[in-house]
Amino acid sequence: MKLHEYEAKEIFKKYKIPVPEGFITSTEIEKLNKPVVIKAQVLVGGRGKAGGILFADTVDEANEKIKELLNKDIKGEKVEKVLVEEKIPIEKEYYLGITIDRAERKPVIMFSTEGGVEIEEVAKTNPEKIIKYHVNPQSEFLPYIARNILKDADIPSKEIPKVADIMYKLYNVFKDMDGMLVEINPVVITEDGRALAADAVLNVDDDAYYRHDYTQFEEFSKKDKLEFAYVELDGDIGVIGNGAGLTLASMDMVKEYGGNPACFLDIGGGANEETVKKALEKVLERDVKGIFINVLAGITRCDEVAKGIVEVLKKHPNVKFAVRMMGTNEEEGRKILTENGIPFERSMEGAAKKLMEMINS
Ligand code: GDP
Ligand code: MN
Repeated sequence: MKLHEYEAKEIFKKYKIPVPEGFITSTEIEKLNKPVVIKAQVLVGGRGKAGGILFADTVDEANEKIKELLNKDIKGEKVEKVLVEEKIPIEKEYYLGITIDRAERKPVIMFSTEGGVEIEEVAKTNPEKIIKYHVNPQSEFLPYIARNILKDADIPSKEIPKVADIMYKLYNVFKDMDGMLVEINPVVITEDGRALAADAVLNVDDDAYYRHDYTQFEEFSKKDKLEFAYVELDGDIGVIGNGAGLTLASMDMVKEYGGNPACFLDIGGGANEETVKKALEKVLERDVKGIFINVLAGITRCDEVAKGIVEVLKKHPNVKFAVRMMGTNEEEGRKILTENGIPFERSMEGAAKKLMEMINS
């Protein structure tokens, strides 16, 4: 999952990585006391070139630019928010990034004096200008290591401690956040000799979601909307499962007991309460007699699924539900369902049978 620049910078701040002063907005602003840069918050690279980075000296000018950006698409992505930041007097731009080198099975730190341009471009034209360092994940990454890495870089020695400090902190962000990619392009050296992160990219590993609260990030709710696979059919029993195979087997089971599936809906792996609610609401857009929910919880948690079911069921007292649910947090999930009077089965035959009995009685 990709974080927006402003979200990544909030995290950087917690790690004391210096970032420009600024705020996020989706409307015009009241006042301004210094020149600013206005940055479209879209998850695409090369925003600057695509017209997503604008400058303003006065409040009127800033509002003009804010309006301009908010009406724009940058490389096909609609701008919903802009980041307004103090304009930094730039002397130099460096590149700093960390990702996983799958071949080496280690995180790799990359640094280049060719900042402010796309790193892929530098890799093509001036590969010797990119320094790479593979981190041993089994020993601690210490500040002196960061300073050593930069000794090979063509930068003035007085800048080394400042850039190394950012590198060290950025590695901790990468590690703590389960990063797939973290980038500061550019790390700016200001005219008065400070080093700061003028841009921020942070992609986190979705599979590490259980260690974090990803719900706080914008992309999380957007991803959800597309998270399930849905195929409409001509029957009247909604079928929801997690995983395509299990969902297909559930449809067979409904058929076996005389029902006709109204849909195939696979909520996928790691579905949470929100996903389940959206899936149920999707099925309930049509006039179904009953819904069969079949969940084998691994990464998915039964209690999350149960909460989603209960939430939606409250609004649809006339629709019959049967749930087969087992796996992670089964006890908690079962408790939530029984407290709310929803039949709960451990076997899918049992659940399908019960559902069809309820419908036919
Ligand atoms: P990107 O195009 O999506 O990578 O957006 P960046 O945030 O990296 O901005 C692109 C370029 O705009 C940077 O490389 C800088 O050259 C320039 N820029 C961004 N912020 C500032 C600023 O505060 N001051 C100045 N002078 N230039 C800036
Ligand atoms: Mn950039």
